[in-house]
Amino acid sequence: MQTAHRKYLDPHHWFSDHKPSLPPVASKLIVKLLLLQCTIKMSTLHLVLAFALFSPVYGLEFCQSGGSECDTDERGALDSVQSRWNVRVTKLRQDLDQFVLSCKKLLETFPPDEVDGNFVRTVNNCIFSKSMPTPLKGPLRLAAVSKDVIEGILDIDMAATQSDEFLRYASGDRLLPGSVPLAHRYGGHQFGYWAGQLGDGRAHSLGQYKNRNGEVWELQLKGSGKTPYSRSGDGRAVIRSSVREFLCSEAMHFLGVPTSRAASLIVSDEPVLRDRFYNGNVKTERGAIVLRLAKSWFRIGSLEILAQSGEVDLQRKMLNFVIDEHFSSIHSDDPDKYLVFYSTIVNETAHLIAQWMSVGFAHGVCNTDNFSLLSITIDYGPFGFMESYNPNFVPNTSDDEGRYRIGAQANVGLFNLEKLLMALSPVFSEKQQKEAKVILKGFVEIYQMRFYQLFKAKLGLLGEEEDDGYLIAFLLKMMEDTQSDFTMTFRQLSEVSLEQLQRKNITQMWALEDLSSHLLFADWLNMYLLRLSRQQNDLDRRRRMKSVNPRYVLRNWMAEAAIGKAEVNDFSEVELLYGILSSPFVTQETAEEAGYAARPPPWAKRLKVSCSS
Ligand code: AMP
Ligand code: MG
Repeated sequence: MQTAHRKYLDPHHWFSDHKPSLPPVASKLIVKLLLLQCTIKMSTLHLVLAFALFSPVYGLEFCQSGGSECDTDERGALDSVQSRWNVRVTKLRQDLDQFVLSCKKLLETFPPDEVDGNFVRTVNNCIFSKSMPTPLKGPLRLAAVSKDVIEGILDIDMAATQSDEFLRYASGDRLLPGSVPLAHRYGGHQFGYWAGQLGDGRAHSLGQYKNRNGEVWELQLKGSGKTPYSRSGDGRAVIRSSVREFLCSEAMHFLGVPTSRAASLIVSDEPVLRDRFYNGNVKTERGAIVLRLAKSWFRIGSLEILAQSGEVDLQRKMLNFVIDEHFSSIHSDDPDKYLVFYSTIVNETAHLIAQWMSVGFAHGVCNTDNFSLLSITIDYGPFGFMESYNPNFVPNTSDDEGRYRIGAQANVGLFNLEKLLMALSPVFSEKQQKEAKVILKGFVEIYQMRFYQLFKAKLGLLGEEEDDGYLIAFLLKMMEDTQSDFTMTFRQLSEVSLEQLQRKNITQMWALEDLSSHLLFADWLNMYLLRLSRQQNDLDRRRRMKSVNPRYVLRNWMAEAAIGKAEVNDFSEVELLYGILSSPFVTQETAEEAGYAARPPPWAKRLKVSCSS
């Protein structure tokens, strides 16, 4: 029976681009990679590779609802989250004037642009330009705040965010102690072509904060006014894109995907003109500012611009800085340090994109200026979580050719890493250049391997069996044929018992019902049941699967409803979504009442998101 369906083991259905460069994943890959590691001497480079390949799948699981579906495991996990916060409450900072940032390290390492003044220009020989934020015109309102970031990262008492002071600090009206606002100079390849100087055209880095855990985070305002890099832009961001960035970066964190974080969202009455769909229909919207955080905001484009303008000394300085600060396993005196650095980024970017795929996330604008050197998700714009499974899903209506369709993200990752390799050429010897090319070739296998691991976990498969890859590919093909919902198909497979599956008792499970309309569903199900029968108890399977298959993701229609309300100063739905998406793996009463795990409303299909923000 299996052989009859071999046609489903087809590269098209590995969520990859329809190009032969990404052939189907199979378990033999693991063997190949193991062999690879045995034959290569364990230099630092390959240790990094080996470590990255076998790091565990990260999943979060805790419960907020207290509803009947919340089992003991979920409750226990919630208690620990709450008690973690309670313990911290006593030690949190109440007075914001005591919250001190430091810009010393950045400014000492990278002396800022010698040209002073906030006017648009081509900038040379520096990494940063000093630039003061332009405060948003009031009245200002605090639309959302992330408790997890405020308390867990910034050590600030949530009560302090309700003050007038917080509004002023988080909107660029007042500078935090120690802050020297900077705009970063970077370039990038946009939609395949070198776009020259881009830079922070509407973002200001405020400085670094070292928290109680010793972590250093760089705080940034987005939407805070013009900088030398604003080109023809107004330096502003509107409410709709800011709500989306705030919610999605936090949601991605709770899904376990590496990402920048968002601390707060402030909205104003300042008019901002936008042609939302680039059809000549310019409308007045309102300005907003997100206070966001990352351990570093450097991108592939940060190195590209230095290579393009021949600033090799500065490029070395940046590389040494990034390696010292963020790649602790790389020794500063290692003659291959830039190569190890490159290899790490190749690995981690492959992992990141595989993680995007495992939650059905399409970034939307995978330009090199939006790809982080720390391989975290940054610069949320016209992203989308895929609803019906479709490898050709394009979230950005401005992306006519579908260059950044979900199924092409791995290939685009490869393209971007090739651009990074080119940017690093000035610091590589000829031999290192050749080795870097070999490392880049390994990207496809690393990506496929990670994809395969993540999807195996999504199906609850333990151990290794020959047909595991086939089982996954077969399911994805059926999902594509039946347009089954990506998130809920996997979630409902996690919730349904083996006994129910055996009896095909899946009424009430709308995504599985859609899937079961496929002619070959019974064949796939038999294979799956047989596979599961060879591993341990079903409760454990469901627990594991529920911890990696979210019940709630930020679907466009959910964000759209919250944005509609936020635009009339009702932030209740943004708050509701933040709460729900901070426990995406746990069934919650409020989310169920809101229909967030139900079949999307018919109007959801008509929604469009463009680059305009
Ligand atoms: P993004 O598409 O948000 O990644 O932005 C690409 C480039 O355009 C970056 O250099 C941004 O800083 C810049 N940019 C986008 N929107 C604006 C704006 N409204 N004002 C100034 N610069 C902007
Ligand atoms: Mg960007």
